[in-house]
Amino acid sequence: MILPRYDRRCGWYELLDSVSDHPVLTDDIDVDVLVIGAGFVGCAAARRMAENRPDDSVLLIDALKVGQGASGRNSGFVIDQPHKRDLESADETLKQKILRLNRVAVEYLETQIQRFDIDCQWSHAGKYQAAVGTRGIKHLDHYESLLKKGGETYHRLTRQEMQDVFGTDFYSAAIHTPGGALMQPAALMRGLADSMPSNVRVAERTAVSAITRTSKGFEVRTGKARIKCRQLILGTNIFTAELGYMADRILPIMTFASMTAPLSDEQMQRFGGRLDWGITPADHGGTTLRMTQDRRLIVRNSYRYAHDYNTPQAMIPMIAERHRAAFDARYPQLDDVAFEYTWGGASGLSANFETYFGELEHNVFASCCDQSVGAARGTISGMMLADMASGRKTELLQDMQRVSGNPSRLPPKPLLRVGVPLRLALERFRSRSEV
Ligand SMILES: Cc1cc2nc3c(=O)[nH]c(=O)nc-3n(C[C@H](O)[C@H](O)[C@H](O)COP(=O)(O)OP(=O)(O)OC[C@H]3O[C@@H](n4cnc5c(N)ncnc54)[C@H](O)[C@@H]3O)c2cc1C
Repeated sequence: MILPRYDRRCGWYELLDSVSDHPVLTDDIDVDVLVIGAGFVGCAAARRMAENRPDDSVLLIDALKVGQGASGRNSGFVIDQPHKRDLESADETLKQKILRLNRVAVEYLETQIQRFDIDCQWSHAGKYQAAVGTRGIKHLDHYESLLKKGGETYHRLTRQEMQDVFGTDFYSAAIHTPGGALMQPAALMRGLADSMPSNVRVAERTAVSAITRTSKGFEVRTGKARIKCRQLILGTNIFTAELGYMADRILPIMTFASMTAPLSDEQMQRFGGRLDWGITPADHGGTTLRMTQDRRLIVRNSYRYAHDYNTPQAMIPMIAERHRAAFDARYPQLDDVAFEYTWGGASGLSANFETYFGELEHNVFASCCDQSVGAARGTISGMMLADMASGRKTELLQDMQRVSGNPSRLPPKPLLRVGVPLRLALERFRSRSEV
């Protein structure tokens, strides 16, 4: 079984002033609900489950330290707008439901952040979508027409506004939507796991190696303990396949990010832009760019088929070079600004872009294939999995079921290992002006 590994490269995690400290599970234990995976899905599911059933015991475990998985390694956008394919759907009701679910997730995260005073650079910065060249502008115009059709608030920036915010004239056009939030993902995950209700026990560095169904529920093996539980919630993202579910449905795709050292006062002058914003590319194969509240620029691009789930260290220098080229194209005035960290992380896609949410088999609940927008989607999925497992029938749960689907069967792995890289290379070539 392939287990998650941490590579000590993720800037968000390495920059934390302190990390969560939940002991490895070493004692055999009986609980009502076991939640595996302490990412967005798992943290939201564990909290909601504990709130729904205050007399039940919940155990939340992760193979890694909280914040080391994909939920702590991303670009930190909590987006409210549906992602590309859903936004392009002709079904307006579906789009409105996704928008509402995402907005509930943003609000839910914000409530926890305020309630537990979680220090994670959370801000209502919204999101910029920016384009380069004719192809990019065509994508952006289309995006604008969809926002307009949905009655969404947005602002198309002038050239001067782009220069003032981004500190570069690299982009040809950009649109700002105000709804989403930005955050430091590893700090957010640490804060969420450290503030669980009293009926949730958290165990880190506790990897599940086997799940067996028994007459009363499940027996779950970890390295040092045996867990008995009545219900299981899997927040294990791509690793769900390793636990024996959805193996031929989850397409694990890795993407990479690099983070600079904080800009000095003098470098900030040369940069000439603002703090605390994030751009996603109009052409989806392009580059994501962020400026943090603490003066660090972050570049994200490049994809790989992550058949091995973890980041191959040999790829990092090549990826860092690509990120450097993207950075230099945008900020030639900052050629002395070095990257401090470069890392990769994988999330689950599906061949038909459907997200899975539901009961895999009796009392085993899961959400996966979030198409790499898991901050909002994973959070609301985790909340709704807990509602489903608690037997609560809410309108939000119905909406969640309505917007989720059935990821289609993937071709055999040997074919994927040839086909997916070719497809990714083609996408990268097509989007080259925005890389
Ligand atoms: C570089 C990058 C940038 C991204 N940017 C964004 C963004 O800006 N906004 C956004 O919404 N999404 C973004 N994503 C995607 C987002 O990070 C994922 O969609 C999200 O983290 C998925 O959350 P999750 O809870 O489903 O899974 P994960 O965060 O992957 O959590 C699964 C957890 O399960 C644990 N686990 C797995 N197997 C076992 C086992 N056997 N035993 C115990 N524990 C196990 C893992 O250690 C892991 O912590 C990005 C991803 C990357 C890599």
